[in-house]
Amino acid sequence: MSELDARQIERMKDILERQKQAFKQDRHRPLARRKADLDAIATLCRSHADAIAQAISDDFGHRAQEESVIAEIAFVIQDAAHAKKHLARWSKTRKVGVPLTLMPGRAEIRREPKGVVGIVSPWNYPFQLAMAPLVAALAAGCRAMIKPSEYTPALAELMKSLLGDVFDTDQVAVITGGPTVGQAFTGLTFDHLFYTGSTQVGRLVALAAADNLVPVTLELGGKSPAIVTPDYPIASAAKSIGWGKHFNAGQTCVAPDYALVPAGQEDALAAALIDVVQTQFPDAATDSAYTAIVSDRHYDRLTAMIDQARDAGLRVIQPDHDADAARAGRRIAPTLVINPPLDHPLMQEEIFGPVLPILGYDSLDDALALVTGRDHPLALYVYALDKALANHVLDETLSGGAGVNINLLHLSVPDLPFGGIGASGQGAYHGEAGFLTFTHERSVFRTGKWHPSQLLAPPYGKLYERISQRQMK
Ligand code: NAD
Repeated sequence: MSELDARQIERMKDILERQKQAFKQDRHRPLARRKADLDAIATLCRSHADAIAQAISDDFGHRAQEESVIAEIAFVIQDAAHAKKHLARWSKTRKVGVPLTLMPGRAEIRREPKGVVGIVSPWNYPFQLAMAPLVAALAAGCRAMIKPSEYTPALAELMKSLLGDVFDTDQVAVITGGPTVGQAFTGLTFDHLFYTGSTQVGRLVALAAADNLVPVTLELGGKSPAIVTPDYPIASAAKSIGWGKHFNAGQTCVAPDYALVPAGQEDALAAALIDVVQTQFPDAATDSAYTAIVSDRHYDRLTAMIDQARDAGLRVIQPDHDADAARAGRRIAPTLVINPPLDHPLMQEEIFGPVLPILGYDSLDDALALVTGRDHPLALYVYALDKALANHVLDETLSGGAGVNINLLHLSVPDLPFGGIGASGQGAYHGEAGFLTFTHERSVFRTGKWHPSQLLAPPYGKLYERISQRQMK
């Protein structure tokens, strides 16, 4: 272990203790202070928007500024505003009914902050995926420690400094470092651990959390299909899929990973997609709207997949672009691969880049069998004009979230819980779901000094018999 990692690990243990002590002394952060915390986040976003977008771009080699504004900074501002607006309702104690046999008494659910939470975030939306969980944690009245990805060090340092200016370390702290620090971080006894990243590391995080019985939310990945049904115009499907697939150059957990079209329509979809990307990015190698691949390692993995497809004799289609300039800028032009076999890496691993396999299906049932024969994806997109057909696809499949005739944007609807299922994750956040993730719903039953239930205690007699018989009906 490096000296730097060792120092970070000591620092995080110390901060955890301090946050726990601070939480003990201030367990019920008043709503006014929570709202002020949320305002502080929104202000931080607005006043440092340029610096945040620049740091992300420095980390990626190039990140389209428009993408950083809309998907990172504005997203967090909206998220904080939504939480602030609904906080009073979300945090209210709920009264629930009491059965006759337990009367008289009052039952209620108190929504209480869990305590100190750990947030581990990935590199692909390094600001949003650290700050949106933080918004939910602060709204719930928790304290938080964030471990950002080592692939976005400039943004991680900036977040550390910006959050450090606004919050005391005993309320919010950023711990930088890579997998070694991540491993130690996820082994801490948080009151909740919130992890976003790959399914592979998610398993390790779940194990680490289990050791301390720390409740854990896992926001993982997977292969999200886009299913185009026979009645849907191919050009419209291409417009939507082309946008969602190439936003952030495909480095999006809910990007369409592969497309399924009626057999014989593969070329039509490919041609329509090439039209779309050429309009959006006239030269993907240099266009400022097109984002680079985050690191050499990720670039090499994606180009190896494309080479493997070519070597296997598959049809690989790209728009005209300056290949040398693309390589120099660590960019990969939008790439379509027609009908790769299901055992090809493109159909085995989450792609997480601008490469889209297009597969033809003979019947919609075949397409659904392909989808349901795999792990539940994080998202599923169906393109269908016929509502009943869209519902049929939803009914026959299971995924974290879904879009009908649209992709990606279900995660921007603040009241939709966002999360996966099975291998794509567990738990959810955004809106009230996020608030509840960091909240303990504490059940309280109140009675007076004397309660009829005392009559049911041993020695058991006639009253017990009568009541238990009624309860057994
Ligand atoms: P990753 O799993 O490699 O890293 C995520 C975080 O985990 C980083 O902070 C990293 O330092 C840390 N980490 C690495 N090894 C660790 C270990 N052994 N123990 C504890 N922490 C460790 O993921 P990534 O490459 O940054 O992100 C890409 C993946 O994340 C994709 O699979 C994508 O689908 C998924 N993702 C999911 C969502 C979602 O909301 N569900 C959002 C974005 C990305």
